[in-house]
Amino acid sequence: MRAYLNDVVLLYLDEMIDWENYFHWRRGEQADADVDRAAMREVLETAAQICEEQEPKLRAGWEQCARLENGNVVYPPHIAETLDKLKQAGLISFGVEEQYGGFELPAFVANVILQMVARADAGLMTILGLQAGVAEDIQRYGSEEMKREYLPRFASGEVMGAMDLTEPQAGSDLGAIQTRATSENGKTFVDGNKIFITNGGCEIHLVLARDAETFDQSKGTTKGLSLYLVPRTQKDGKPNGVTVTRLEEKLGIHGSPTAAIQFEHAEGFLVGERGQGFTAMLSLMNNARLGVAAQGVGIAEAALDVAIRYARTRVQFGQPIAEQPLMKSRLARMTMELEGSRALLYRACALTDQNRAIEAVLARIASGSKEMSEAQAAELQTLYERNETRIRLLTPLAKYMGTEAADSISRDAIQIHGGLGFMAESEVAKLHNDAIITTIYEGTSEIQVSFALKEIGKGALGVVFEILEAELKSFEDPRLAELADKVLAGMKQILGAAGALLADFKYAMMSAQSLAEVVASVLAAGELLKQAKADPRRFDLAATWIDRRMVDLEGRCKRIKTGTVAHLDRCAAVIDLVD
Ligand SMILES: Cc1cc2nc3c(=O)[nH]c(=O)nc-3n(C[C@H](O)[C@H](O)[C@H](O)COP(=O)(O)OP(=O)(O)OC[C@H]3O[C@@H](n4cnc5c(N)ncnc54)[C@H](O)[C@@H]3O)c2cc1C
Repeated sequence: MRAYLNDVVLLYLDEMIDWENYFHWRRGEQADADVDRAAMREVLETAAQICEEQEPKLRAGWEQCARLENGNVVYPPHIAETLDKLKQAGLISFGVEEQYGGFELPAFVANVILQMVARADAGLMTILGLQAGVAEDIQRYGSEEMKREYLPRFASGEVMGAMDLTEPQAGSDLGAIQTRATSENGKTFVDGNKIFITNGGCEIHLVLARDAETFDQSKGTTKGLSLYLVPRTQKDGKPNGVTVTRLEEKLGIHGSPTAAIQFEHAEGFLVGERGQGFTAMLSLMNNARLGVAAQGVGIAEAALDVAIRYARTRVQFGQPIAEQPLMKSRLARMTMELEGSRALLYRACALTDQNRAIEAVLARIASGSKEMSEAQAAELQTLYERNETRIRLLTPLAKYMGTEAADSISRDAIQIHGGLGFMAESEVAKLHNDAIITTIYEGTSEIQVSFALKEIGKGALGVVFEILEAELKSFEDPRLAELADKVLAGMKQILGAAGALLADFKYAMMSAQSLAEVVASVLAAGELLKQAKADPRRFDLAATWIDRRMVDLEGRCKRIKTGTVAHLDRCAAVIDLVD
């Protein structure tokens, strides 16, 4: 079995992320990267140990759902027990700053923990991911008073959090939100109905609601939305008009409660600025998207692990099925898809971390610190802006790739098990059922590729490809340089195809998935080559990715260049055949 804390995580921890500058910029003092690395490793080892030990119980309890008892949500025992262990280890709200009682873990470490938890149980990961995300949003946008009141309670696990966006008529389109926030005598009250709310029985809800003053003018847009912290209990201990009206029965992630919530004159406290709720929520959603990408990687890792073990022991035609060429090729493709997605995720996390650290140093300089010259600060500002462009493109790509990989790898794992894979108790069937939701929540795959397209339309490829080109041209080892040349050729083809797209919005939208696939292919290729340079055992992985993906890229780019929007009329005609 591949370890929970595996080689590739350690490769990023030890070699592929610049921790020295990260801690230096974050703290404003010279950092000893070895000490920090050792501390992060210890945290990861603790998480890995808990997940590994709990995995059998979590898999065995997979079918047990959260229950609604007298209006309160009760976790099934396997979830409650593991949550408790994570709480005791302090691993419940990773990003909460030390001054509020948290560990302030870098996004890379936090997402590796989420990946491990998802590998053990994807439902538990959803609860934990929301908890961390809600706390981080309060930390980023809440007032000092709000942070002091709530963050220590998040860090200790005393309170849990939920993010309340979705309504029956407002799913992907949050501009359709109708939950109303009304001001009365200096207080604000929230009324409305939310659905599909993960961890909906918890104490703290971050609710996106439309302000009554601008309700009619802002209807149908994301303007006029504000973010409110709505506790279930008022300060005097009385209930606050937040009711869980039902829990959903689902295909997977059974341990994670998914609730319908009614807000009836519930007092809410503004988080951030009035009318800027969507922006504040986007920040939570971007973190959550990396979290769901990590969930995908975790599920894929679990499914691949089970599939490889089975294929090595199942004998047909006198040999293990893993030796059959078709099976071998399928298992290699699954591994490649997992590692390509992981590479995008880890780089997106590393860039997010770097920018948080730069934010800290620039804030100190703005308040008078002389720790660096003006020219150095200006350089950091430029790096920050370039990183932001990369993060805005990489985040939707990582979410799209990680979750689609989880879906396809867990489906392939069922195929590898033959008839056994289709049995209700099959481990891989459970993993596949869990994987499906990852391509839907926190923005569906279609929404992710549309976001990526939007960033490309704003010119993101200019920055991202300039950095990638420099990296690809830096390989001295001839075997790596030869592969890098293939990726450089792929980048040229993408630029040709993207030009053809951006002239016609509808055609661009139609091709958004293909464009996301090819851009993700070259970005992951660059990352896998860097991995191979750091660890030569990963050469074949990079070569396999590049050989397979560059052929696919060529076909997709050709199709994008030669197609037209008229194809949509043909789609309509084909669909009409069904009527
Ligand atoms: C288990 C679970 C947990 C959840 N947890 C939460 C939570 O904690 N908080 C919360 O607020 N919400 C939560 N959700 C809601 C989730 O975020 C939404 O289900 C998701 O955003 C999709 O919205 P929808 O279901 O209304 O689908 P729709 O938006 O109706 O989409 C249906 C289909 O149309 C496609 N589509 C829609 N618009 C476009 C477009 N512009 N271009 C191309 N295709 C498009 C979608 O990709 C999808 O395939 C959860 C949902 C589930 C199932």
